[in-house]
Amino acid sequence: MDKNTRICIIGGGPAGLSAGMYLEQKGYENYTILERLDRVGGKCWSPHYNGRRYEMGAIMGVPSYYAVEDVEKFCGITHDGPKLNRNYKNAKGDVIEPFEPKKNILKIPRLLKMKKQVKKLGELLETKYKGYDLNGHRGVAEGRYDGYACTPGRERVQGENPNLKDLCLPFNKFCEINGVELTQDIWIGPYTSFGYGYFDEIPAAYVLKYLDFQTTMNFVKVNLWTWKEGTQYIWEQLNAHLKNPARLGSTIEKVDRRDGKVYVTVNGVVEEYDKIIVTAPLHIPGKRADGQKGMDEYFDVRDDEKELFSKIDYERYDVQAVLTKPEDHPEISYYVFDNMVKEKLGHLMVYYRRWKDEIDQVITTYALRKHKDMEEIPYETCRQMVQDDLKTMHNPAKEVINEWSVYYFPHVFSEDYSAGWYDKVEAMQDKYDTFYAGEIMAFGDMDETAEYSRELVERFF
Ligand SMILES: Cc1cc2nc3c(=O)[nH]c(=O)nc-3n(C[C@H](O)[C@H](O)[C@H](O)COP(=O)(O)OP(=O)(O)OC[C@H]3O[C@@H](n4cnc5c(N)ncnc54)[C@H](O)[C@@H]3O)c2cc1C
Repeated sequence: MDKNTRICIIGGGPAGLSAGMYLEQKGYENYTILERLDRVGGKCWSPHYNGRRYEMGAIMGVPSYYAVEDVEKFCGITHDGPKLNRNYKNAKGDVIEPFEPKKNILKIPRLLKMKKQVKKLGELLETKYKGYDLNGHRGVAEGRYDGYACTPGRERVQGENPNLKDLCLPFNKFCEINGVELTQDIWIGPYTSFGYGYFDEIPAAYVLKYLDFQTTMNFVKVNLWTWKEGTQYIWEQLNAHLKNPARLGSTIEKVDRRDGKVYVTVNGVVEEYDKIIVTAPLHIPGKRADGQKGMDEYFDVRDDEKELFSKIDYERYDVQAVLTKPEDHPEISYYVFDNMVKEKLGHLMVYYRRWKDEIDQVITTYALRKHKDMEEIPYETCRQMVQDDLKTMHNPAKEVINEWSVYYFPHVFSEDYSAGWYDKVEAMQDKYDTFYAGEIMAFGDMDETAEYSRELVERFF
């Protein structure tokens, strides 16, 4: 592609900003990033309280966050945040140690079986499911893998593997057919409590591409990255180092694609581009309408886009930032496994204490209130349930200082995944001078979205 191509990027989150970085590194400097908010970072949102930053969105990374590492190198920053630590409570608020055999004598046979199954799953992923952990979903539904290895060098890899079709199944079914059901006890912590849905509804591909074996072991060993100034800082720094920083406060009223050009109406002015990269939600509300602006509200969506993007579902993940009285302050972050089942939809699943040495700090709480087959729990109800749960946990909130309900983890369900949703969308890349990126194309975390942008630039520019 001509290096002078005029490229419009919608969204100043990890996907959009890293698309700008990778384009720039490849010699494309004629790009414009349009961000509707007055800040960059998207779901990496780290507000200030008492001189320190707390996390309303993304919190952590793992050592295999190679795209995030690219950004760190580009900006000369590093993951210098507080060490994460956690413990577990049951729904009654008692501290438990579910994986400690000495504390669970009666559960020893189950724990031993689980350990064996984790080992077995690790072996299966290396052999039977070779190619499972590439970024993005190209070819999976057809039993192929095609992409870049999840290694620092990201070598190009391609191959046939019909077993990969099993990844279209919901994760609980995938575990069942492989005789590794108990591994869900380990995977559920960094999956469901992090807002990515329940194992009976989410295709295994999402679970295992995000929580590949190595990443899961990093979670188990708490070998995790955080940033002192918050995850938003990564993207603020990137934005500050780009030749063309994001244009904040950009309201896009219309996108018209015709005659090989893309006309974008921004804050009342029509701008002309050659190509557009969309990292904003591709979602088209349809029957799952929820007030989130759909792509069809400002794009000249075509029939194929409409058909595919109306299949996208999402999670509703609610975060509250609370203060507690000093005597009620949690000693550490806690996971509440009992609440990570759909029957406990809307309850507190995890709460995060960021700094070890400071009592007067913000605690953030996390709850899911949506499941494929169930009625969505109203926001206010869920908010109250979480506060009641905090009381049960012996850490009542004295004040809520911030809160939001996030349009989270866009995905498709097994039926559409196995019908080749991803290959159909991939075949549409550049069809309307438009490239689709962001969370839906890989997975809803900082690294997978940034890595997808890297690959998009590698493949098409
Ligand atoms: C509570 C929570 C916890 C999380 N924890 C982690 C974690 O620990 N580790 C991790 O890696 N990830 C975590 N994530 C996920 C991670 O933050 C996201 O996956 C990542 O930010 C996605 O990047 P993105 O650029 O695709 O989308 P986003 O971050 O959503 O950014 C999209 C951007 O596009 C802008 N935009 C949207 N529509 C328009 C429009 N029409 N015009 C212009 N701009 C528009 C938005 O304002 C936003 O800035 C968490 C997220 C949340 C909410």
